[in-house]
Amino acid sequence: MSIDSLGEWRRTHYSNMVGPALDGEKVTVFGWVEDVRDLGGITFITLRDREGLLQITVLRKKVSEKILEKISRIGRQFAIGVKGTVRSHREAPKGVEVIPEDIKILATAAHPLPLDPTGRVPADIDVRLDARVLDLRRPECRAIFKIRHETVTEIRRFFIENGFIEVHTPKIIAAAAEGGAALFPVDYFEQKAFLAQSPELYKEQLTTVFEKVFEIGTYFRAEESHTRRHLNEFISVDIEEAFATVDDVMNVQEELTRSIVSHVAKTCQNELEILGLSLKTPSQRFKRYTYSEIVEELRKRNVEVEWGEDIPTPAYRELGELHKQEYYFIVDWPSRVRPFYIKPREDKPELCYAFDFMYEWIEITSGGSRVDSKEVFVNRLKEQNLDPKSFDFYLKIFDYGMPPHAGFGMGLERMLMALVGKENIREVILFPRDRFRLTP
Ligand code: ATP
Ligand code: MG
Repeated sequence: MSIDSLGEWRRTHYSNMVGPALDGEKVTVFGWVEDVRDLGGITFITLRDREGLLQITVLRKKVSEKILEKISRIGRQFAIGVKGTVRSHREAPKGVEVIPEDIKILATAAHPLPLDPTGRVPADIDVRLDARVLDLRRPECRAIFKIRHETVTEIRRFFIENGFIEVHTPKIIAAAAEGGAALFPVDYFEQKAFLAQSPELYKEQLTTVFEKVFEIGTYFRAEESHTRRHLNEFISVDIEEAFATVDDVMNVQEELTRSIVSHVAKTCQNELEILGLSLKTPSQRFKRYTYSEIVEELRKRNVEVEWGEDIPTPAYRELGELHKQEYYFIVDWPSRVRPFYIKPREDKPELCYAFDFMYEWIEITSGGSRVDSKEVFVNRLKEQNLDPKSFDFYLKIFDYGMPPHAGFGMGLERMLMALVGKENIREVILFPRDRFRLTP
């Protein structure tokens, strides 16, 4: 089939800019054909661009042979351009249509398509992810990723406004921050290296220079388990702050969450409507439960968690039932279930200054006060059966004036699951990487 060239054509308007007020004006629009309906004397083309839909109305008796020929060839999901005149018309969707004077077919699509990008025919998540770029054209997906975009925009604004400096730490590293288990190895010339699973020890070092840093970065975890909340590649939003404690960074997390929710509620009204959501900025201060209180709460529901153990997934599910639509913190964790860089309490070293930030059953963030003494750090490594030698590069920092400091790592996708109410993390990342998926 012959394809037109773009030539000198350039877009004058996105679909959402074409309204009845433009009646009589000439426009050039581009997009994909969502639908073509031929009603004899009249053909309707529904055009979709990134902002929405627009009706193109072809009165067959009034247009040239050239346009009729184009229309006879147009199929769903073809990319086309239309030059025409805007007509305000009460019966058209949004009260407006474009009467074409010229049409270009810029790309075709092969039918049958693997899924229906209008979303009218529901498809299984694996089918959707296999044809992700078509799936992303569905209004629901576009809404989720517009919300993701606004979330990241707001996160960056929030940190910059609060005096944090944006940094970029290495993603190819020699030693693990979280122990060796979940690292992807990389061949690094003559050496063995790994993909970073967090910026932990780098952002901590940087507090000795910039005091307040943040990073929005990609991290890799070779977790074997195939769950609805784990990816093997995800985005973490990290902060680290000098001369601060766990309580200070929990307050940052709380303020950040409020800012994100209110920014999304303000800038994504259409998207929230498409998703059937109404977001309210939480008015109350987020509750801080101790780990012991949570264990007790679970016990009352006949879910046994032995004190000192991590909280297993079924118990998290139960917490989700108990904390519906609630953001909350879990504090005062047993030291042995938290990473070696978390500071134990001076008065009760079996507890530590760590927190998790939760929404219903989902852990969104982990953070805490960090170890700021070399001696304690070495002991913590030994307790967790890690070899202090492989942390030489970091141990040096304690001799260079290590300030008391605290920070957190927030999973961007986990935050989005909470915002858009999705139970499967794959819904909120463009191209998920999981135990079984490396393409597309
Ligand atoms: P989980 O217990 O849920 O496996 P974690 O405690 O191992 O998470 P942390 O090391 O605390 O994870 O990482 C900080 C944050 O990064 C987590 O709270 C979570 O939001 C996010 N995160 C960690 N691992 C993953 C993953 N595999 N996929 C998506 N997000 C992740
Ligand atoms: Mg955690």
